[in-house]
Amino acid sequence: MSIKMPEPDQAVLARRDEIVAALRKIVPGEGVISSAAEMIPYESDGLMAYRQPPMVVVLPDTTKQVSQVLKYCHANGIRVVPRGSGTSLSGGALPLADGVLLGLGKFKRIREIDFDNRAVVVEPGVTNLAISQAVDHKGFYYAPDPSSQIACSIGGNIAENSGGVHCLKYGMTTNNVLGCEIVLITGEIIKVGGKTAETCGYDVMGIITGSEGLLGVITEVTVRILQKPETARALMVGFADVEAAGECVAQIIGAGIIPGGMEMMDKPAIHAAEAFVHAGYPLDVEALLIIELDGPGVEVDELISRVESIALSCGSTTCQISVSEKERLLFWAGRKAAFPAVGRISPDYLCMDGTIPRKQLPLVLRRMKEMSEKYGLGVANVFHAGDGNLHPLILYDANKPGEMDKAEAFGADILRLCVEVGGVLTGEHGVGIEKRDLMPEMFSEIDLNQQQRLKCAFDKDGLLNPGKVFPTLHRCAELGRVHVHGGKLAFPDIPRF
Ligand SMILES: Cc1cc2nc3c(=O)[nH]c(=O)nc-3n(C[C@H](O)[C@H](O)[C@H](O)COP(=O)(O)OP(=O)(O)OC[C@H]3O[C@@H](n4cnc5c(N)ncnc54)[C@H](O)[C@@H]3O)c2cc1C
Repeated sequence: MSIKMPEPDQAVLARRDEIVAALRKIVPGEGVISSAAEMIPYESDGLMAYRQPPMVVVLPDTTKQVSQVLKYCHANGIRVVPRGSGTSLSGGALPLADGVLLGLGKFKRIREIDFDNRAVVVEPGVTNLAISQAVDHKGFYYAPDPSSQIACSIGGNIAENSGGVHCLKYGMTTNNVLGCEIVLITGEIIKVGGKTAETCGYDVMGIITGSEGLLGVITEVTVRILQKPETARALMVGFADVEAAGECVAQIIGAGIIPGGMEMMDKPAIHAAEAFVHAGYPLDVEALLIIELDGPGVEVDELISRVESIALSCGSTTCQISVSEKERLLFWAGRKAAFPAVGRISPDYLCMDGTIPRKQLPLVLRRMKEMSEKYGLGVANVFHAGDGNLHPLILYDANKPGEMDKAEAFGADILRLCVEVGGVLTGEHGVGIEKRDLMPEMFSEIDLNQQQRLKCAFDKDGLLNPGKVFPTLHRCAELGRVHVHGGKLAFPDIPRF
């Protein structure tokens, strides 16, 4: 593991048997897993280059059990890593050697469907897709749609503020979550938000969304559901260069049109996806845009013709418009399967996630090509073009000595470039361990200290998911008094990863 994690607490490890026995009393039966073989599935999340067996896995079934587990861990100074479905691509659910891995997989119940208030109350282990499936019969759905929606949990979506193809028009998770129940590390249970659109006081839901398991454990979620649009049709538009495709994206948004989704793929990604799903993608183009318009039929027809003429004015070389639902889904099939498709052309790939202002797209793609030559590694680009969220997939072979280090250095350079051009380190995958050490590229020490004070307000002993998000762990009591005088670092014993 090339990334440095907090040193395991040997005193905690020495008490492992006693800790496991105490946890078994709280979560009886199969709810505690402690054998090395049975813990293997929990060693990593979607960022599979990093693995670490936890001290013990605990799978509670009720909020009361979560509360008792956290209370026990708090009283005994034991670290806790929450986990949903384990699909995080930034290592957010990577276990700690001396920590409890707290899996929410048994929290699978849909508690209430309230069509009158357009809200659904679910447990955090319910998958993203299951929410839409539960309300489909009345023509409703839950809008944020990560490509992993068949597997990822709604609790994980909140913790990562996940996005998807339709977030350009309908907002990210943060815009679609109304409230939740959270268990604090002390075992106390708090309720945040609710079914109403307005709340009073601080926007605590906004703080919890995207908090990556560092502030509390989510045990119940209330989400907003939307009525399905009357019609949806998609255009598949090819360009001879990525600059023209980037310009087309900017002009569509500039014309006041917000498509339901607007995605771009570059040539390597187009070829990989086409070979995998045979969606009919043109192979003689450098960039492909898939643009979906949704709403009332008449409006969609009007918008399709406006988008088609904007694309033509930007130099599109091919344009196909879906004429049936089957064809619309086929256009999307390649894009949605782009990650596994790229997995077929390279033994390994690293999926990056950065966001840039839309107009910087051509420059960033050009610089990425130069980096690809410098590192001698291929890159395929798939991205949410409408909101400037890039997903470069860096191709490498972990069996070749040094290639993984090169891929990581390449990825870090891409993220630095995103920040340099006015963007941010992550669009939707979170910071986790993957981007933790790059946080100072974006935030000053003052910024980071202030963010950690917020963490301290929820978890002053730093027991919840330590080693993630923040490159330096401060003790809460010392925050604000850490200054470097004459090159001498204060509190040298504080772990700096
Ligand atoms: C093939 C593939 C495609 C993907 N596509 C997308 C995409 O299009 N858009 C996107 O945004 N992401 C995507 N992802 C990333 C991932 O699916 C999301 O980040 C997802 O939200 C993670 O949910 P999870 O349940 O798997 O969480 P986990 O991986 O288990 O955990 C993620 C983080 O959430 C915390 N956490 C989980 N549950 C809780 C809880 N109940 N309380 C507190 N903290 C919790 C964990 O501690 C961790 O920090 C993709 C991943 C894969 C593998």
